[in-house]
Amino acid sequence: MNKLVTFVIGPTASGKTTFIQNHFLNQKNEVILNVYDYQQASFKEAGFSSNHIPFKQETKCLLKANENLLADIISTLQEGKNVVVEHTLYKAKRRIAYIEAIRSAVENINIEVYVMSPSDSVWDTYIKKRNLKNSTWLKSIKKDLDFPNLAEGFDKIYEVTDDDIRLRTDPLKQEIVVAAHKELKEEAQRMKKEEEEAKQRLALLESMNSRPFWHYCESCGTKVFCTAQEAYDEGWDYPPRIGTFGVLGPRTCGNCCMINTLYLKVMRQKIPIIIKSNLTENELRTWQRIKNEPESLLEEEK
Ligand SMILES: [Zn+2]
Repeated sequence: MNKLVTFVIGPTASGKTTFIQNHFLNQKNEVILNVYDYQQASFKEAGFSSNHIPFKQETKCLLKANENLLADIISTLQEGKNVVVEHTLYKAKRRIAYIEAIRSAVENINIEVYVMSPSDSVWDTYIKKRNLKNSTWLKSIKKDLDFPNLAEGFDKIYEVTDDDIRLRTDPLKQEIVVAAHKELKEEAQRMKKEEEEAKQRLALLESMNSRPFWHYCESCGTKVFCTAQEAYDEGWDYPPRIGTFGVLGPRTCGNCCMINTLYLKVMRQKIPIIIKSNLTENELRTWQRIKNEPESLLEEEK
């Protein structure tokens, strides 16, 4: 008999968990996986709580959670069990990526999806039960959901509206698959490029410990091309030994103190932030240089 993967998808508080409890819980030889658990684990692993995470990191964590979940779906199927997956899966491209990976890893498999589309009143009840604010906003997300199509690789698609479970047999839309492949390819290329850039930046920062680079004294205007060690031995206050590249701090030679530095000027303001219109031409140049460190220190400034 074919093994079965069942996706239960839909927006927040649209009744996914209840539906799974009513229809799938306690069935033998079946494992229920929830993307929420994987997302929480992924945030935790990256050192964030789900409420305080920068957007770029969040996207990375969500993709990582998707990857880990996919790996577990596949390994569960390979153990001979069926899988029920609770997921949002708004986007056709994410579903297609899952389906293709599952089908290429496991043979003789049926993949079905239940799409939660509660009526307004039932949805309101769920939202109230979960104590969620802003139900209008929650519901507006529904328009972002690409309704699944058989062309994505599903064997069956059901729409669940309250107690009504209806098999959908919409005409095939092959163009969804073509568009998804294009988007997935672009996404993979973009991520690879970002990773490459991050790696290069790390290597550059590491190299600043040993390579010679330009040191500029803000106070007397001296400039020297030397290594961090040489500068340190001469009494310079300069990153990476003192202060941090790209962060405002005094940049001075061994003969000068911080009196004439941009850092001190800013620190003496009522609110210690850079206001460009208050800076002299020289200070502006210093700020540009500091902001663009360490790259700005590699070539001599003209
Ligand atoms: Zn100096």
